[in-house]
Amino acid sequence: MSTRRKLVVGNWKMYGSRVANAELLGAILGARPFGADVAVCVPFPYLSETAVTLAGSDLRWGAQDVSAHEQGAYTGEVSAAMLHDFGCRYAIVGHSERRAYHAEGDQLVADKAKAALGRGVTPIVCVGETLAQREAGETEAVVKRQLSLVIHTLAHCASEMVVAYEPVWAIGTGRTATPEQAQAVHALLRAQLLAATPHAAVMKILYGGSVKPDNAAALFAQPDIDGGLIGGASLKAADFIAICRAAG
Ligand code: PEP
Repeated sequence: MSTRRKLVVGNWKMYGSRVANAELLGAILGARPFGADVAVCVPFPYLSETAVTLAGSDLRWGAQDVSAHEQGAYTGEVSAAMLHDFGCRYAIVGHSERRAYHAEGDQLVADKAKAALGRGVTPIVCVGETLAQREAGETEAVVKRQLSLVIHTLAHCASEMVVAYEPVWAIGTGRTATPEQAQAVHALLRAQLLAATPHAAVMKILYGGSVKPDNAAALFAQPDIDGGLIGGASLKAADFIAICRAAG
């Protein structure tokens, strides 16, 4: 059993409303303690209200993206400094939905991770293969390529990121990697991190992709799975709470 404390992060994607958020956060707050670290990554407009709602609690919060730029004429972008201004703890970078719909490549993902860390915001760096890549036997090569540029770009700060393995074919599809499939990739990623930093043994590698209350415990029991990045199920209070309890 690893000594790493588990981390469960909800990715709300582009869902929510002020009323729905208050209800969801109220339920999560009321269900503590979990015995694991828990965070929610919310849409930008809800960051400050989430910060106020969670102030004084042990629940953490973050954003779902961050600009690679420090500041400037980048309409629509949100900088790491702005996130830091609110006390934002995490920023997801390289989510497969951003890679697919916003053409984010490996170098941009690495630059975003660097920008976040530069302002004390922990990047949750997502890597993962598509179904076609898995079926072509390319999983290892793909995730290693995605992670290696981030490791190279962050250099000595690489140990400060959180990594999330999210097979694209499992995101929002109801199809989950088996605990063994996920563990095999997590072990590869841990070995890659170990080659780059002596702190890899304490770094968190989360699994994401259709994690639900009924599969969370088996996934979290794997030696290199340190928690989860939870999409759809993080919007349902009962499901998210059950997943957080499975991590505790
Ligand atoms: C995600 O959005 O990161 C995710 C893993 O989604 P889901 O849990 O819905 O598959």
